[in-house]
Amino acid sequence: MDVVDIHPANNENTERCRECGGSCCKGNPGACLPSDFGEPFDPILLRNALCSGRYCLDWWEGDIEGLPSPRDRHWYVRPTYQGSEGKTLCGGWGGRCTFLTDAGCSLTFDRRPWGCRFLVPSKNDDEDCVMEDPSDKEFSVRAWNAVDIEGFVESEGIRFYPT
Ligand code: SF4
Ligand code: SF4
Repeated sequence: MDVVDIHPANNENTERCRECGGSCCKGNPGACLPSDFGEPFDPILLRNALCSGRYCLDWWEGDIEGLPSPRDRHWYVRPTYQGSEGKTLCGGWGGRCTFLTDAGCSLTFDRRPWGCRFLVPSKNDDEDCVMEDPSDKEFSVRAWNAVDIEGFVESEGIRFYPT
């Protein structure tokens, strides 16, 4: 895995994000890393997060260079979309984050998913907010590959492919 600082300094710019209105959070929640659930990763913390109904398992379809292949789904964890709370498995292409409120994110900076902490707000309308390569989703998927998500799901009695 590429060497990336998973503990960026607090890069909040609440004034700028208030102006923007939280378009990133309305488009897709940031991806989590296993380290967002304890260092070392603690499956109980992941279970608690999933049981809260506000986090879910999503996946990357298709092959990713360097990861086991062929494989239908490469798992990662993210906050749920508003309206999808309680769904443990949630393949999605975008939605408003469950933690977004009219006053902004309801989580303190250090409790936010890595993908949110890693995104650096732009300084003005002429600039883009910066997510370093690799993308948060791919980086997250690569990190979760080290965790036996399928074994975890089975031990927790979660149905993998709900009908
Ligand atoms: S990080 Fe960027 S896209 Fe997200 S709310 Fe702030 S200014 Fe908007
Ligand atoms: S956790 Fe907070 S910062 Fe991250 S997408 Fe959700 S509302 Fe936005």
